Amino acid sequence: MAASGPPTSVVPFYDLSALHRQIRPELDAAYRDVLDGGQLTLGPRLARFEQAFARYCDVRECVGVANGLDALQLILEALGIGQGDEVLVPGCTFIATWLAVTRVGATPVPVDVHPLSYNMDPAKVRDAVTPRTRAIIAVHLYGQPADMTALRSLADEYGLRLIEDAAQAHGARWAGRRVGGGGHAAAFSFYPGKNLGALGDGGAVTTNDPELAESVRRLRNYGAQVKYQHERVGANSRLDELQAAFLDVKLPHLDRWNARRAEIAEQYSHALASLGLTLPWVAPEAEPVWHLYVVRHPERDRVRAALMSAGIETSVHYPRNPGDQVAYAHLPIDRTRLPVAGSLPHELLSLPMSPVMTDDQVTLVIRALQAVWR
Ligand SMILES: *Cc1c(COP(=O)(O)O)cnc(C)c1O
Repeated sequence: MAASGPPTSVVPFYDLSALHRQIRPELDAAYRDVLDGGQLTLGPRLARFEQAFARYCDVRECVGVANGLDALQLILEALGIGQGDEVLVPGCTFIATWLAVTRVGATPVPVDVHPLSYNMDPAKVRDAVTPRTRAIIAVHLYGQPADMTALRSLADEYGLRLIEDAAQAHGARWAGRRVGGGGHAAAFSFYPGKNLGALGDGGAVTTNDPELAESVRRLRNYGAQVKYQHERVGANSRLDELQAAFLDVKLPHLDRWNARRAEIAEQYSHALASLGLTLPWVAPEAEPVWHLYVVRHPERDRVRAALMSAGIETSVHYPRNPGDQVAYAHLPIDRTRLPVAGSLPHELLSLPMSPVMTDDQVTLVIRALQAVWR
């Protein structure tokens, strides 16, 4: 009997349960430890993970928080950025980058993205700077590090803070240096689908500035350093002990998982080179971590439909830019300044990418794409 509806995927976009099966005994043990230990917030597991992640990113400080959006928001608050200030953000990113700016009362000002890297184009920054500009948020989109050399020198030239949105780039390097320590502070997300993910929500702020770290540490805990002594209007945004324990189990596997992603990216790039798809571009200074493998084609929807009927799950990151969302209808955005960002939502396609994809699954994706042009 013929089944109706779309076929079950033979290649899922990312099979997270397969990842967790790889390390199931370690996760079970972490859960039992936390349960037996009794302390569930601001305890020893958090301190241990913060140290381990700081070391991994090669930075002095790491502060665990509730999620990536809060990490960005707490950085902005700690830097005193708010009402009346402008913050430069990429025209194409996940909306959280913009939301953090809006939530502290400042205004996100979009800068167009580079036509090859899809990250903020340093050549477009000057035109967006005004006397109110206080900071740049550089997003390492899809795990491809932004041009930190150029953005750093622009930030220095204009006296701006440089903040990294590293939510998609745990472990990536720019000019040999891990992301997380290339600006004044960086925000990470441990949403389950990120390269390093918790079993729920989580996030972190990394920085080489101990005072900034201390501010974020207070802000995440009701604005208090000493219990019931509140110096600032803080938030409740802690990374809890259970998630910290799971992350501590996963961190030692991250480089291996990122290496498998790189292997898959290489297989894709090699096999898809002559199909007429625009493949991801890697800057000479960049060591990406392939959070996503994103191709580009003017007839994206046709390619996507062909893959879907072959049982291959794809995704689009993102179908609409933040500036075109209803939530930002009130912002006066000059779209003539964002030609590259404006064209991407209709043309980008994210192929299956994860550390648990098998070689056979990679081959199925490649064959299905080859069949589109036969
Ligand atoms: C996921 C993500 C965030 C937000 O992180 P959450 O933990 O989901 O709040 C911010 N920026 C980018 C680029 C992201 O991909």
